[in-house]
Amino acid sequence: MSIMMRKTGFHLLALALLALGNVPAAFGWGSYGHQQINVGALELIKGTVLGKCLKLNEKVVQRLSVTPDVDWKAGPKDKELPEDEYKAKQAIDRDEHSLHFFEEDAYKSTPETKLPSGAFKDGVPELERLLGENADHIAEVDPSKKLKDPEHPTLDDVTKHGTAPWRSLQLYDLAVAALKAGEVSKAIFYLGTMGHYVGDMSQPFHATLDFDGQASDAKGIHHVFEEAILETAAKGADAHLDHDTRLWSSFEATHDEVVATARRELAAAGGVAREKIISEITRLLDTGQAYIAPLTEAFSKENRAYCEAQLNEKKQSKHEKIAQAVITAFMGLSLPDPVHESRQSSVLGIANARMGESSALVARMWTSAFEAAGSPALNCSKISFESLDVVKNYPRPTYIPGVK
Ligand SMILES: [Zn+2]
Ligand SMILES: [Zn+2]
Repeated sequence: MSIMMRKTGFHLLALALLALGNVPAAFGWGSYGHQQINVGALELIKGTVLGKCLKLNEKVVQRLSVTPDVDWKAGPKDKELPEDEYKAKQAIDRDEHSLHFFEEDAYKSTPETKLPSGAFKDGVPELERLLGENADHIAEVDPSKKLKDPEHPTLDDVTKHGTAPWRSLQLYDLAVAALKAGEVSKAIFYLGTMGHYVGDMSQPFHATLDFDGQASDAKGIHHVFEEAILETAAKGADAHLDHDTRLWSSFEATHDEVVATARRELAAAGGVAREKIISEITRLLDTGQAYIAPLTEAFSKENRAYCEAQLNEKKQSKHEKIAQAVITAFMGLSLPDPVHESRQSSVLGIANARMGESSALVARMWTSAFEAAGSPALNCSKISFESLDVVKNYPRPTYIPGVK
């Protein structure tokens, strides 16, 4: 793609942003991406004992991938719930938000900084220390998280930057216990929801203080990268979201690319023992960091001024069309691939690669949980999503000190 065409692409993008105005609340890959990640992981292990059981319940596994967003975060429909259920949901919502991200750069002042890889509570003192060392950087990139006392960071300061890696590990442990106890539907519940948090860790904007490009003049990129481009691609391939079941009808637009990356990653990485899980999640976070700068650069920079002028000229008419044009342009933009230096990748290609990498880790963790439980014979049958009662059975993040 020529420089000129790329510039045009960039300009279109900025236009979309301006035209979009308020973007929806950040969800983390959106429902399409999360479902694709679990469906991709299932593709890798469908021939195994566990894989066959999950495959029998594929729609449930797909639906569980969005439970942490759809069922565990508060939504406008909650107001229709009976008083006690409403209160219970609000309490879950308060716990839930910071479980979906881990702002690695809040701790890492250099790429070499080592992060704790054991139990969360054991890592807290080191995480507090690293936050203190990085206080100036945090205040600069996200002033809302400025440390009150940089000499004495607290547990609360730490949890504010997210705990998704340990949330993933918690659900892994719960799945192992359920498998050992022969509670297959519970195991499906934990393995399916675990895929959500692992998936969040491959979204580069869930791994940085600059989570919405707010510090790089690329505000709005979070939703556009994780959701808008994928929905655009999906709809382009005639897929649709069923609003009752919350399931996407197909993943044709992305599936082959996601699975190809996942297979390569699985072949290169092999199995994962429990004690390696946090460091494998950290590796997933690390590979995503390289994409943040190229993506934010493509999404904004000097183009904003140009686009503002264009918008004024058009008197901001036909918003939706402009927005969609911009999203489509961003999706197809070709960027130098920072991980594979000789290559170019489209923005959609980058999203597919990221989803594929998390599909691989999800598959490895599913297999690992099954083996850690002693590779039991599974008394597997077809279950319904409703029977799991996911709100009543909410697993509270008890790995965080003080959470009961
Ligand atoms: Zn998000
Ligand atoms: Zn999430």
